[in-house]
Amino acid sequence: MTPGNVVGQDETHLCSALDAEWLTVSVHRDVVDPFRELADAAAGEGCDLAILSGFRSFDKQLSIWNRKARGDLAVLDSDARPLDITTLTDRDLVLAILRWSALPGASRHHWGTDIDVYDAAARPDGYEIELVPSEYESGGMFAPFSNWLDERIADGSAFGFFRPYDRDRNGVAPERWHLSYAPLATGFARMLTPNLLRQTIESADMMLKDVVLANLDEIVTRFVTNTNPAVP
Ligand SMILES: [Zn+2]
Repeated sequence: MTPGNVVGQDETHLCSALDAEWLTVSVHRDVVDPFRELADAAAGEGCDLAILSGFRSFDKQLSIWNRKARGDLAVLDSDARPLDITTLTDRDLVLAILRWSALPGASRHHWGTDIDVYDAAARPDGYEIELVPSEYESGGMFAPFSNWLDERIADGSAFGFFRPYDRDRNGVAPERWHLSYAPLATGFARMLTPNLLRQTIESADMMLKDVVLANLDEIVTRFVTNTNPAVP
């Protein structure tokens, strides 16, 4: 594992559709087998486990970040409603973006160990998935699938997957669609030091960079390392 693998600037750890025909996104090559096991278990419940988002590069995350900072992409409040960012200080804008979007360099999606999942069998034809709480919570189309995942994770039969953003810890908003493969993600998390993150951001063409660097310790504590401690 290289520092580049950790911050999304080196893709040598990935497996893509070129290697496995059914894969529609890239993931860490050692996540493929456990994912298949989880998908087989889901199929037994009538669910069609699918990945909406897997690996995301540093440049892709940077593009999301910069578009949100410029106001080209909506910045959402805790209830997933668009915020008027012109009323925010730069620091508050940074904190608001971080609620739903990772800092470039600190996204768990850089690792290929983390995936956003849904139940393709429960998705109505033509429906575009938004990845918002209402889709996964009680009454939502993916609630039965999500509840099934809860049970598997709780009884230790989710093949190493868990939810890093299982509940609100005053950092990243709860994301019931986001799964992480713990046996690998733990190693990536350990390698993502504040120093590596600082160096990566310093050399990036990033909006609000000075504000991020000035508040980096707090950002790491609140939004990067502040995840579900119940790692399988
Ligand atoms: Zn995610």
